[in-house]
Amino acid sequence: MLCSKCSKEVADGSKFCYNCGAQLAGQATGPATVPVAEVPAKRLRRSSADKKIAGVCAGLADYFDLDPTIVRIVWLLAIFFAGTGFLIYIILWIALPLAPARGAITATPGAPAQV
Ligand SMILES: [Zn+2]
Repeated sequence: MLCSKCSKEVADGSKFCYNCGAQLAGQATGPATVPVAEVPAKRLRRSSADKKIAGVCAGLADYFDLDPTIVRIVWLLAIFFAGTGFLIYIILWIALPLAPARGAITATPGAPAQV
């Protein structure tokens, strides 16, 4: 084919003329076809790209358009507060003595109460 700028012969399929450097892409292959990324239907599934254990959190984050880290934090908090956290709370509840009511410390007998 011929370069439209310098009218010199260039090989078919060349993107640039090697005589003048003119762009030939439009002439050679027609309009450049940009591959359109297919947008798959939104489905709840585990992420294979961004996963820590099984990709569950990342999958959920993907589905709900959230930050995977946020989902992981919420998930971990839920686990801790529903399981271990709850148990620790019960243990502390039993083990810790009840603090005296407000004012009980200052109102010791013999000492003048300061309000
Ligand atoms: Zn040229």
